Order: sequence, then C-alpha cells, then structure tokens
Amino acid sequence: MITVLRIGHRPQRDKRITTHVCLVARAFGADTIIVDRKDVTLQETIASITDRWGGTFSVSFQPWRKVLSAWDGFIVHLTMYGLPLEEEISTIRAHDNILVVVGAEKVPREVYEISDCNISITNQPHSEVAALALFLDRYFQGAQFRKEFCGSLRIIPSKREKLINDVVNQKRKAKII
Ligand code: SAM
Repeated sequence: MITVLRIGHRPQRDKRITTHVCLVARAFGADTIIVDRKDVTLQETIASITDRWGGTFSVSFQPWRKVLSAWDGFIVHLTMYGLPLEEEISTIRAHDNILVVVGAEKVPREVYEISDCNISITNQPHSEVAALALFLDRYFQGAQFRKEFCGSLRIIPSKREKLINDVVNQKRKAKII
C-alpha cells in the first residue's frame, strides 16, 4: 500500500501542480493521497477522473503533522537533500504501508526528522511531480505500466489516432480526432 502525503498545498497558487501530483500518484500505482489543506475542487476533479478512468484512487485531507505522527508504517520524504534513491530503494521496497511525502515550498525541519528516510532523486532542485513519478517507477519496477484500472473509458493505443473505448455509452473504438 502506497499513500502520498502532499504538504504545503495552497489552493490558489498550487492548484495545477497538486492536481498533477494526484494524477501521477494515481496513474503510477499509489493507492491514495492525503493533502494537508482542504480543497474540494481538487477532490472533485480527481474523483471525476477516477470515476471515468477507473481504479479506487481517492483524495483526503488532514494536517501533515497529524498524519506523520500517527503513521503506522514507513515514511519516505522526497527531498533533494536526501540519500540517493538508487542506493536506498531495495530497503524501502522491503517495507509495507509506505507514506511518500512531497513538499511545495520550504519543507519544515520536523518532516526531515520524523521521516524514516529522506530520499533524493538527483541532488538538483526540480519538481514534486517528477520526484514522485521517478520514485513510483523505481518502487514498482515498471509494473505500473501493466496496471489495469477497469474504467469505463479505456484508450486503445494507436500509432496515429486517438481511440477510446467508451464502455458506458457503448461506443467502441470511437475515433475522437
Ligand atoms: N526548496 C524546497 C525545500 O527546501 O524543501 C523544495 C521545493 S521543490 C519545488 C518541491 C518538492 O519537490 C520538494 O519538497 C520535494 O518533495 C520535491 N523535490 C524537488 N527536487 C527534488 C529532488 N532532487 N529529489 C527529491 N525530491 C525533490
């Protein structure tokens, strides 16, 4: 079970990037995400995607301190200051119930201290979206590419066309270009 904790979310400023954190978490195999500030629009956007595209991914809200102090599992904080992912991933993969923490702006010292490990994906500054995607890829070792979401909308991979199988509306191989 993989839960993502998004800390430092500011509904006005971070709307788009937190949505992308949620979408990457869902598409690349995480089970759920906790965001530290209530944002009903974000929750509805992701619920609508999950509704149509499948799976059980959900968004909930809780203050980060409460989540970290109560977590009954292994906490991985993604930060450019941490130990290299490729050196730590096998130890991380041995644990169950992993909480993956990603920040927005400056992350409080407490998060570094309470986490079981602080992990870097290169020691260069980049983005929580990229860091999470790479972490999940290394964690699942590519299995996320084969995950079945069983949604009503399914893409039929195509060389040149946009093809979607819409199960609910009985539209098969609808060409949407
Ligand atoms: N300057 C902030 C700090 O001191 O924590 C980081 C801001 S960064 C835009 C937002 C988030 O992206 C970070 O909290 C971290 O989760 C993730 N991130 C950015 N670069 C990273 C890296 N090289 N390795 C792991 N995570 C990274």
